[in-house]
Amino acid sequence: MQLTRQLVSCSSEGGITVWNMDTPREEAPQWLDSDSCQKCEQPFFWNLKQMWDSKTLGLRQHHCRKCGKAVCGKCSSKRSTYPVMGFEFQVRLCEDCYETIRDEDRTPLATFHEGKHNISHMDMDPSRGLMVTCGSDRVVKIWDMTQVVGCSIATGFSPR
Ligand SMILES: [Zn+2]
Ligand SMILES: [Zn+2]
Repeated sequence: MQLTRQLVSCSSEGGITVWNMDTPREEAPQWLDSDSCQKCEQPFFWNLKQMWDSKTLGLRQHHCRKCGKAVCGKCSSKRSTYPVMGFEFQVRLCEDCYETIRDEDRTPLATFHEGKHNISHMDMDPSRGLMVTCGSDRVVKIWDMTQVVGCSIATGFSPR
């Protein structure tokens, strides 16, 4: 929706999400590969040589969602939302990245709504604030979206 700079997405799991697009976003990083934790350098469990050499047990590999580094569980124990990257729910972060996230960075940039059916197609009429969803259950629903897409749409529909 150009006027309100919002994007509406529907999912096959039934979720309807309204994204605030009026803000710059950061692209999520590629996940890096490593045979040992990129923070504490402990070996991952397939790194038999380093496990043997250092007489330690290998650890599970995880990834920090902000920097993409391959890290162990201990080095990625922090959780936070990070909406500028699209993470509206808490995700795994390494200590360093967690420290860089300020409170204002956690301001949600999307709202979530329950479609109550598995949506396979959708269309939207922004001028009237109406959305239609078709589900895999063959149900067609018409939604009054005027309450969720913000009343700043300047094209003259009145909330119903
Ligand atoms: Zn580690
Ligand atoms: Zn990180």
